[in-house]
Amino acid sequence: MTTKHYDYLLVGQGLAGSLLGYSLAKRGYSIMVLDNYEQPSSSRVAAGIYNPVTGRKLVKTWLADAIFPFLKTYYTELEKELGKNFFHPMQMFRPFPNQEVKDFLLQETAVANYGDFGKYHTPDESLKSVVKSELGGVMTDHSGWVDLPLMLDAFREYFEKKQCLLQHLFDYQGLHLENNTYQVNNELTLTYNKLIFCEGFYGRNNPYFSWLPFNPVKGEVLRVKFKEDISLKEMVNQGVFVIPLPNGRARVGATYSWHDLDWIPTEKGRADLLEKYNKLMLADIEVEEQLAGVRPATKDRRPIVGLHPLYHNLGVFNGLGSKGVSLAPYFAEQFVDFLVNKKELDPEVNINRFGSLYLGQKQS
Ligand SMILES: Cc1cc2nc3c(=O)[nH]c(=O)nc-3n(C[C@H](O)[C@H](O)[C@H](O)COP(=O)(O)OP(=O)(O)OC[C@H]3O[C@@H](n4cnc5c(N)ncnc54)[C@H](O)[C@@H]3O)c2cc1C
Repeated sequence: MTTKHYDYLLVGQGLAGSLLGYSLAKRGYSIMVLDNYEQPSSSRVAAGIYNPVTGRKLVKTWLADAIFPFLKTYYTELEKELGKNFFHPMQMFRPFPNQEVKDFLLQETAVANYGDFGKYHTPDESLKSVVKSELGGVMTDHSGWVDLPLMLDAFREYFEKKQCLLQHLFDYQGLHLENNTYQVNNELTLTYNKLIFCEGFYGRNNPYFSWLPFNPVKGEVLRVKFKEDISLKEMVNQGVFVIPLPNGRARVGATYSWHDLDWIPTEKGRADLLEKYNKLMLADIEVEEQLAGVRPATKDRRPIVGLHPLYHNLGVFNGLGSKGVSLAPYFAEQFVDFLVNKKELDPEVNINRFGSLYLGQKQS
């Protein structure tokens, strides 16, 4: 029997576990990341968009001023460290959906409030030949997309090289909280100072954290091929997003469904996406691939970060919802500062905001 000790054990090597593990390793802490890679993961389905101007009213997103300037530096450095090109800064054109939204944005000077995140944009002939955009729209900066599957593969290699990755399905039966021990099998025991769960959608089955108000959302995306040669340099978003990819391809998405929380692509999802695509775009396409996944969202649409109210050696980094690419770098760093420097967590993400739910389920 071998016993190994780590400062941090992390369960899950999706976006959350990868960035948290990276931040801890960079600061010199010993880590072990556990993932068996057999269940599907949200990160491997995601389109990977980050975008500071969101919602039907095209407003600046939550924490945009803090998060977005930081993203470019973060992912650029990560690319250098991991030796792969997965970060694709790209403007996003958001046509006004109707005159009402256009009037609202221009009169309320909301566009002016974007700062350097976006500005009013009249499309040129080239863009007009591909996108229906009679009313003009907003062109955002500090936007783009991250090729998450490529980045996660690079992280897997990085953790493997550092010998801090174990291909293993974490089983709660093997956990012994009284002595901070996790029994992997008959040959291997891991001990830890803290065990952090980064399980995405599967977190809601975790017996220590299932009381948290998860609200998972199924989503579907397509990879399509343009039937003709077109020139599209920006992402486009109105009802659906379209991300131009090399070789005349694009990613189109995404649907939102709070039912049938499985990973199976549906006819309905495909039809919805194509209908919305045809309302927005002029270029004909054919579908090459369809994927489905479940976003680990929460009822208040904020991440959940922090330590268990009773078992202070157990933590959670979850609830990234549909904005993992923009939120994960910032909150992974914040979580590490909390863990190692005792800095405060943002109250809007701190698990403590749900303390009463934990007490409630204990009493019932
Ligand atoms: C269709 C779709 C489109 C999306 N588009 C975007 C987008 O454009 N931009 C954006 O920012 N976000 C997008 N998202 C959301 C994004 O995918 C998530 O915010 C983020 O990837 C969640 O990462 P995670 O690490 O929390 O979860 P996951 O990626 O699901 O990772 C969880 C990991 O934990 C592992 N795990 C779980 N339980 C165990 C266990 N017991 N033992 C071992 N391992 C375990 C799993 O194998 C998995 O690898 C999209 C999601 C979907 C479904």
